[in-house]
Amino acid sequence: MDLPVDEWKSYLLEKWSLLPTSIQLTISTAETLSDIFLQSSLLLQPQDEMFLKRLSRGYFVGKDPEAPLFYREEGNKKFQEKDYTGAAVLYSKTCLIDIMRAQTHGYPERLQPKIMLRKAECLVTLGRLQEASQTINDLESNFTAKPALADSPFHILQRNLHHLKIKIQEKKNLTEIFPAALAKAFEDMDLREENEKISSASSSVSLCTDPLKGRYLIATKDILPGELLVKEAAFVSVLTPGEMQPLHQALDSKWSTKVTNGDLYCHQCLKHTLATVPCDGCTYAKYCSQECMQQAWELYHSIECSLGGLLLTLGVFCHIALRLTLLARFENVGEIIRKLCDETSLKDISLPENKNMVKTLNYGQGESEENGKIVQTPIPGCDVNGKYENNYYAVFNLLPHTENHSPEHKFLCALSVSALCRQLEAASLQALTTGLKCSELKAVATPDFCPDLDIWGVAMLRHMLQLQCNAQAITTIQQTGSKENIITDSRQVRLATGIFPVVSLLNHSCSPNTSVSFISTVATIRASQQIRKGQEILHCYGPHESRMGVAERQQKLRAQYFFDCNCPACQTEAHRMTAGPRWEAFCCNSCRAPMQGDDVLSCGNRSCTESISRDHLVSRLQDLQQQVKMARELLRNGKLEQAVRRLLGCRHKAESFLSAEHTVAGEIEDGLAQAYAALGDWQKSATHLQKSLQVVEVRHGPCSVEMGHELFKLAQIFFSGFAIPEALNTIQKAEKVLLVHYGPWHDDIQELRKMKSCLLDLPPIPVGPSM
Ligand SMILES: [Zn+2]
Ligand SMILES: [Zn+2]
Ligand SMILES: [Zn+2]
Ligand SMILES: [Zn+2]
Repeated sequence: MDLPVDEWKSYLLEKWSLLPTSIQLTISTAETLSDIFLQSSLLLQPQDEMFLKRLSRGYFVGKDPEAPLFYREEGNKKFQEKDYTGAAVLYSKTCLIDIMRAQTHGYPERLQPKIMLRKAECLVTLGRLQEASQTINDLESNFTAKPALADSPFHILQRNLHHLKIKIQEKKNLTEIFPAALAKAFEDMDLREENEKISSASSSVSLCTDPLKGRYLIATKDILPGELLVKEAAFVSVLTPGEMQPLHQALDSKWSTKVTNGDLYCHQCLKHTLATVPCDGCTYAKYCSQECMQQAWELYHSIECSLGGLLLTLGVFCHIALRLTLLARFENVGEIIRKLCDETSLKDISLPENKNMVKTLNYGQGESEENGKIVQTPIPGCDVNGKYENNYYAVFNLLPHTENHSPEHKFLCALSVSALCRQLEAASLQALTTGLKCSELKAVATPDFCPDLDIWGVAMLRHMLQLQCNAQAITTIQQTGSKENIITDSRQVRLATGIFPVVSLLNHSCSPNTSVSFISTVATIRASQQIRKGQEILHCYGPHESRMGVAERQQKLRAQYFFDCNCPACQTEAHRMTAGPRWEAFCCNSCRAPMQGDDVLSCGNRSCTESISRDHLVSRLQDLQQQVKMARELLRNGKLEQAVRRLLGCRHKAESFLSAEHTVAGEIEDGLAQAYAALGDWQKSATHLQKSLQVVEVRHGPCSVEMGHELFKLAQIFFSGFAIPEALNTIQKAEKVLLVHYGPWHDDIQELRKMKSCLLDLPPIPVGPSM
């Protein structure tokens, strides 16, 4: 997803392996990114470009006249399967396209009013109210201009029009409440006091550098859990396409009917929306509104639009690299592009890291002597006044770690970027010769803006290499399970990849002291625990101690981020060297004590002689996981009694060899809780969920966001069962935990508060009834 598709990757790796050693050596030992790029792009042959073009065509993103019919049929299927979300998305893909086509292809004039009314209806259903109103206005002025239309069907039309207007007003009233709530959410998220030296950060932190750690943030005062430390809009973000399938892989159908994130979220602002406005030029880009479409077009999409298939083939990192350079046009253009275009300074900024290290060392001292005067050396990425901001200059200064990447990887990135440059060049040449859309591509083609696409290429290569360590996944919590489920289950999904120059200042820890969440493309970082003055602010790059063991974390961090993690979690775990965490532990069949050992495990209880091979236990575990999966399937299909029976069976098996805190044991309890909730047995449901809660607590800690989600579920169960004291108690706990991670305006917190006020407003009930 991040890197190019496998076919292109293996094609280039093979090309690399066939290169003469002397050329490989030239590229491997190239001094600057500029040299790496120029040496590699010389090797890009027309047949390579042809191969890439063929691959790109597989990711069809142009408009196809047959698509609407197909989508409508698939929409009907989804509707019958009660997948209403899927159906709505597929219908919206077709309806408006049909109407627009009818209008442009000489639809009989007397039928025009009818079709415009249909269009307005569609737009109202899709929640695009402004456009609906506009269509109605057009329709009405059509009537005044052509009184001949006012024959008999006109009256019916007039009546429908009237109803539609009322509907629009009603919907407008409804939606007006929502933005107010959202605006408030952003207000609350404002930093109490913005940092004078670091934009988007609170005054409770400050920026430091040191030769070993690079740049990092420390607390300038004691910080309490939940305090907002960073609130930063992505400098750039690119929606993760989801599971896109190239055509040759999806043999059975020409178009994918799978509803991916690309269909559900605005490609510009990442807002969730069922009724997206598609780009006029491609089927890939979709937006929540005309405004977002317009904004995206002006910022970058006018140039990306015709490159859709190629960008999907080259992967998200390449796409971000292109968009970054496109965005750079709007900012400090004079300064940065001049720097970029100036060959000497280009060499300077793309120096290999070992020389940069010397520079960093100097920076680390914070000051140097010049003509006998002490001069404060600026921290990289800061402006002349020492201020660090969310801008292209800061992005450009993020480290590409050039010397850490393998030569093959640099070759892969350089050739992908140079293929992209050739496409841009071809597109701008074509625009110049045909005179079409010339103004749109002017930015690329105008000589005085950028004399040489190679300069862009070098910048893009730098960005691609930076992304491996600096890309931030933008995630959201997606509710899973059907609407009928009483307990909402949720999972974190990756929506987009972005660059946040300020968030990038934070170093990693496997047990971080902050928590990150997103609204739209804005990242917020809150303290997840008390942080003392002078302590470093740390967040987790992915490998968290509650998700993987120390060896796996160390390996992942070394491979992707090029460092050996030395965080407290890694230090203590490496010392302990136990059989692994409790949520993966096996226990003794006869006495329930934990089993210990490597290939052969023996009971930790000295008076017990049980022993068993690890392979045997692992295969039993896999068996059990399969059965749990099947039980969950039954649950999803509403076969509740069967699901309960199967889950109880699984539970019995789990008790014979898994520790009570094993993740799979937790999953079984969670499944039972859901099944009993659906059956209306609140008491049993709560009992099982409390057991699942214990497993989550052992694994993720009592104040973790995961714990918050579990407590939220438990509160829902108590609430539905009218167990008022228990519900109030659990709501309070859930609120306390989730507030720290999300702040007061998050949906879950709002929901909890609604539940609370509802319970408190209930008339007093003499004796606690059902629980
Ligand atoms: Zn949007
Ligand atoms: Zn487009
Ligand atoms: Zn660590
Ligand atoms: Zn035993």
